[in-house]
Amino acid sequence: MERGRRDILMARRIGRGQRDILTARRMERGQRDILTVRRIERGQRDILTRKRMTRGRSASAREGETMDEKKIERGVKEILAGIGEDLVNAEVLANTPRRVAAMYAEFFAAAAENPANALGVVYQEAYEEMIVMKDIPFFSICEHHLLPFIGKADLVYVPKDGRIVGASKLARVVDIAAGRPQLQERLTSQIADALVEKLDPHGVLVRIEASHLCMTLRGVRKPGATMVTSAIRGRFYKDEASRAEAFALIA
Ligand code: ZN
Repeated sequence: MERGRRDILMARRIGRGQRDILTARRMERGQRDILTVRRIERGQRDILTRKRMTRGRSASAREGETMDEKKIERGVKEILAGIGEDLVNAEVLANTPRRVAAMYAEFFAAAAENPANALGVVYQEAYEEMIVMKDIPFFSICEHHLLPFIGKADLVYVPKDGRIVGASKLARVVDIAAGRPQLQERLTSQIADALVEKLDPHGVLVRIEASHLCMTLRGVRKPGATMVTSAIRGRFYKDEASRAEAFALIA
């Protein structure tokens, strides 16, 4: 939970950092005052902090590349022993740990990948209107309970200087960001930040609606409840009319 909250705070700092850098670029064309310089410095500090965090995380992600399935197997054996080995048959004891380890390896296969790289080739097209990809189905694994959360993602962006990506890559970035132990909040931010990192567009809006099995099957047991998260970057932040239009398009 603490890491999740830290990531959300960090995502906000990154958003602020990126906004500051964009503002700085605009200012380069005009006059720059001392306040702006301070904002730039703060923005760069934020970006640097993020780079350090990314480096730290990718180091642990690299370990994940050679995911230790044997370790997972041993863990599952322990779980079965904890439940009561006499409650399951010999076939389960012999093979379930291996099956579960293989399943986790599949779930988390993308854990080491940077979602921005999943966006692939950047094309040039003289188009600076909204691009919407909606109802992208996905599932991810909640890092608090290792249970799936399942839902749909909507992505909106307004390209800048004609930079666009292939439609299928917009679905791919969702899968890559979802392919690690996740929180819906962080997933939403990571997808928005991946689009900013790759395309530096005028604006990005990501909306995710998902139901969490950890809420359906255990705890408060509320099947049917869904959680909605959204992340906005760039133009959609300031321009209320653009934001309203984007939300209307994905409604
Ligand atoms: Zn959970």
